[in-house]
Amino acid sequence: SKQFSRPINDLANQYNMIQSGIAGAERVFEVMDQQTEYEAGTGSTPLTEVRGEVSFEHVSFSYTKDVPTLRDVTFTAKPGDLIALVGPTGAGKTTIINLLTRFYDINEGRIAIDGHDIRDLDKDSLRSRLAIVLQDVYLFSDTIRENIRFGRLDATDEEVEAAARLANADGFIRKLPDGYDARLTADGGNLSQGQRQMLTIARAILADPAILVLDEATSSVDTRTELHIQQAMSVLMKGRTSFVIAHRLSTIREASAILVIRGGEIVERGTHEELLACRGHYYELYANQFRQAAPYAAL
Ligand code: ADP
Repeated sequence: SKQFSRPINDLANQYNMIQSGIAGAERVFEVMDQQTEYEAGTGSTPLTEVRGEVSFEHVSFSYTKDVPTLRDVTFTAKPGDLIALVGPTGAGKTTIINLLTRFYDINEGRIAIDGHDIRDLDKDSLRSRLAIVLQDVYLFSDTIRENIRFGRLDATDEEVEAAARLANADGFIRKLPDGYDARLTADGGNLSQGQRQMLTIARAILADPAILVLDEATSSVDTRTELHIQQAMSVLMKGRTSFVIAHRLSTIREASAILVIRGGEIVERGTHEELLACRGHYYELYANQFRQAAPYAAL
């Protein structure tokens, strides 16, 4: 958790420099608030050799008494599955992620990793096997090298650069005057949006988690950058159980299962093709949101 708080504190200091319009800045503060609650948890079983099976069993949760946020959420992700969470704003997608990462503890039901109730797990070991890639707000004012190394503090320079290559970031980094030693400005503004995303992906590759949680950026980048990011994301997700609050059609089409969340419940589940064929909630979302949001994707 010490690792986790460093860039957040840094970002808090830099808050005035972050444009209020940047999506994700709010989430940093949500995470900061939640950090405190997370510290309050218990559990001592260390998590070793994670296969990455994740199950939610009749999970219900409320932030506020008597206002149910999630109701009877049940699903199982097998090791290596890609689970896409889709649904309207306020549906409960982020809450599902918050519960998995133990920012909050559930009121009813059970969440298990490889069959272990996550309330019984040691929090630091849970966190070390699980990586969170939110939108591109976690860069801090240090060199590119240290920003990537943040994924695993004991990584060597060679390991940092190998992760950057896998994330398609090595090319642009080497073109910068100081290369890996280039300093990021407080708001990461000297890099493009796409470059910042590739750095956060490199960081997650370096962390090598069994379970990944991603909140895809919604902002548009050019088609070529988008392809580079998609490739890097595929490398990152390969062989890991991934939960993605998905905005990219390409991600959703690749998903082992799409969970359509609405009003705190899973209202539909299946693959892209299966759900399109149902002509229900997903079909509607797809028609109104994903198709327009991803004009570059082959339809
Ligand atoms: P989504 O990610 O699908 O947009 P969320 O999981 O963020 O939805 O939110 C689900 C519901 O829970 C919303 O009604 C939201 O207002 C509420 N909510 C989210 N975070 C909190 C919080 N920290 N305290 C109280 N209510 C919250």
